[in-house]
Amino acid sequence: MPVVRAQEESPIDLVGLLPADLVVLTTSLDAEPFRANQLWHWIYHRGVTDFSTMTNLPETFRKKLSERCVVGRPQISQTITAASDFTHKWLMRFPDGKEVETVYIPKDNRGTLCLSSQIGCTLACRFCYTGTQKLTRNLSAAEIVGQVLKVNDVYNCWKHSCCKKILSNVVMMGMGEPLLNYNNVITALKILTNIKGLAVSQRRVTVSTAGVVPMIQLLGKEISCNLSISLHAATDAVRDVLMPINKRYPLAALMAACRGYQAVRNAHRITFEYIMLRGINDSEADARAIVRLVNGLHCKFNLIPFNQWPGAPYACSTADATYRFATILRDSGYAAPIRAARGRDIHAACGQLCSAFFSGSGGSESEREWTVPNVPVSTGLYIQ
Ligand code: SF4
Repeated sequence: MPVVRAQEESPIDLVGLLPADLVVLTTSLDAEPFRANQLWHWIYHRGVTDFSTMTNLPETFRKKLSERCVVGRPQISQTITAASDFTHKWLMRFPDGKEVETVYIPKDNRGTLCLSSQIGCTLACRFCYTGTQKLTRNLSAAEIVGQVLKVNDVYNCWKHSCCKKILSNVVMMGMGEPLLNYNNVITALKILTNIKGLAVSQRRVTVSTAGVVPMIQLLGKEISCNLSISLHAATDAVRDVLMPINKRYPLAALMAACRGYQAVRNAHRITFEYIMLRGINDSEADARAIVRLVNGLHCKFNLIPFNQWPGAPYACSTADATYRFATILRDSGYAAPIRAARGRDIHAACGQLCSAFFSGSGGSESEREWTVPNVPVSTGLYIQ
């Protein structure tokens, strides 16, 4: 990654640089390489953004840093808290004015932070509000990490402070498809899980994908996080409608990719997310088809009551239908918890806050061109 820039360019955001890149930058500013460790500590342990207060750094180095670099943060343009369960949702604004949602879901004295990876999304899943928003751009690694740093600021959750909230889990399940912004997501996760920094356990990081098949096995090779698949249908006929990505990577290819992933990460149980949609995907026949589909995979299911948004074309399954569906999965030996609907009163399903502020239109499916990220890997195995 080029970390030295011409004088007239915009400042370099130190957030989003891997440790090795920080060393390159540090030496390019005529400081000793070990100063990069000190910088890293200020950024990720202390949450400091003002170079002048990084008192163990030489004054000349601090001056150069303040002339050429920033420690970036998104601005919070709106905060909503669910009265029902204290789920927090923030609309985070970046310097170019673009915004994404970040959601914090507390449980006892810990909590899960749901991060966005793109502004809008190309995949247009029909049950998803973000899917109505045309992709504007990918988030940079700095912008993905910045969501966590900003929430740490909000809760004063830095290692030297008396933290009242604990960010124990990170899920890439907010706006956008993480595997279509692969390189930036991987860089961000490597920073978040770095043992000398925020040190989020890789076992407590989950990447969720709608099924970008060529990237799934690669993810398994690169980082030891959890994999979550947005499944949501038992047949190609239904999934083609709910999730247009299925036309490119149908269920057989998706299951093959999951098996390939488990061959790399054989201890890792895959989670299949399944939104319960009344009369669409919630029959007993659907449940039995799911059992046949995942035969041989080490996996579990999360059954999610549909968090209905204004104008949504679907309704949530009845409690009876959800219970019968779960029972068939459980009787077949799979864990299948029915998730509590969190943050319903603040529309915590992805994209719903941002959409209230979004000025563009979603665009038709044919306008939503998307490509698999260009990374150096042999992906031909799963491409249809
Ligand atoms: S569910 Fe995920 S992949 Fe599908 S449209 Fe929404 S943000 Fe995109």
